[in-house]
Amino acid sequence: MAKKDYYETLGVSKSASESEIKKAYKRLAMKYHPDKNQDNKAEAEAKFKEVKEAYEILTDPQKKAAYDQYGHAAFEQGQGGTGGFGGFGGFAGGAFDDIFSDFFGGGRRGSQTETRGNDLQYNITLSLEEAAAGVSKEIKVPTWVSCDTCHGQGAEKSSDVVTCNTCHGTGVVQMRQGFFAVQQECPTCHGRGKVVKNPCKKCHGEGRVQKTKTLSVTIPAGVDTGNRIRLSGEGEAGLNGAPSGDLYVQVQVKSHAIFERDGTNLHCEIPINIVLASLGGEVEVPTLNGKVSLTIPAETQTGKMFRLRGKGIKSLRGNAIGDLYCHVVVETPVNLTNKQKELLKELGESFKADKNAKHSPKEKNFFDKVKTFFG
Ligand SMILES: [Zn+2]
Ligand SMILES: [Zn+2]
Repeated sequence: MAKKDYYETLGVSKSASESEIKKAYKRLAMKYHPDKNQDNKAEAEAKFKEVKEAYEILTDPQKKAAYDQYGHAAFEQGQGGTGGFGGFGGFAGGAFDDIFSDFFGGGRRGSQTETRGNDLQYNITLSLEEAAAGVSKEIKVPTWVSCDTCHGQGAEKSSDVVTCNTCHGTGVVQMRQGFFAVQQECPTCHGRGKVVKNPCKKCHGEGRVQKTKTLSVTIPAGVDTGNRIRLSGEGEAGLNGAPSGDLYVQVQVKSHAIFERDGTNLHCEIPINIVLASLGGEVEVPTLNGKVSLTIPAETQTGKMFRLRGKGIKSLRGNAIGDLYCHVVVETPVNLTNKQKELLKELGESFKADKNAKHSPKEKNFFDKVKTFFG
């Protein structure tokens, strides 16, 4: 497909001045803006690429001279006599949005003059009990707050705030960046459009001061590590009366000496001695709300699990409450007295004497397997 003449693409004459070319380019760039071409975006994008290519060539004196002399051949690799333009002419896919954000100074819709304060993050560490029950905490956050001496104006008197001379109050300046004329934040007033002649002594003209503020945070029952609580407007104060940022309280729940948490459920180990395990009985087990009694049936083995319904943690969303899982561990007795050792020996003898009884349910099974293995 033969390429359209660059001058024709921009709708200008061959003798057009640089400013005429720029004007034509801006008009066409607006025309083919994606927001104005919702129904035929692909076509608009193709058109825009053509326009941009023409503009880039015709506003570069060296490339323009080459084009005027050799036409499109000047920019095709391996053809024409000029060389040196090999890298030019390609457009990366998806470059369209970037082009527009460069051109219109960031943000495709509206200008970006907002100077909202920064969001802040505060890390809070809670005990499992606090996370389960919910808690109210006082936190101290170093932040910027609006200066109360100048009421955020940054000036000694309100008559000391004057319109910026560099940008004439618009807060932006036109700059040339590569092939584009771009809008940039005014370097003199940093986009405020106003400058302070006689800065406030307390805030040095910033309009805000650094201060540690104390906040009370209500942490709901059921929070877990990774949850974030947003305190709207409690972040840094904005510049020049702009809205404040938000404060995010990032929750970290400490590990617990007894309980392990799994969502709304809790797990804990219950060590019991061989007598209780053998004969059964009652054992006290801990919960987050105090001790409760758990019945251990006779002949309980290690690994047996008891579920205590509703003794877990309340769900952060909704009213469901998790369970507490008690995992039994039967312990071998230690530090035995001579008397106790005698009793155990006696017990051992009675096991031997009692040939047909199965006192160790796993052991019998285990030695049967060993026999098969070696047999
Ligand atoms: Zn300015
Ligand atoms: Zn001040």
